[in-house]
Amino acid sequence: MTDLAAQKSKLLARLGELDQRLARIEESLDAPHNPDFEEDATEREGDEVREQLGEAGLLEIRQIRAALQRLRVGGYGVCVACGENISPERLIAVPTAARCRNCV
Ligand SMILES: [Zn+2]
Repeated sequence: MTDLAAQKSKLLARLGELDQRLARIEESLDAPHNPDFEEDATEREGDEVREQLGEAGLLEIRQIRAALQRLRVGGYGVCVACGENISPERLIAVPTAARCRNCV
């Protein structure tokens, strides 16, 4: 039996972390470029890394929101592909899991 309240607080805590991380990434992306062109290339590489972190973070935020939505309306912990229950162990390891181990 999965403890839904525990899963929900875990998801919300993770969402809060990601929101903060993304806010920091966005701040640094908005920072003006160093006009010293010698450093420009390395700075741009750094920006790409931050943008990718942002992409991964945004994807995770979407997955967390979807999981919270399933918690609200029902269907959390049920595989969206085959309709079987997702094992509690898997949900604890991956609270955003929408599919069971067989359907990943
Ligand atoms: Zn399945």
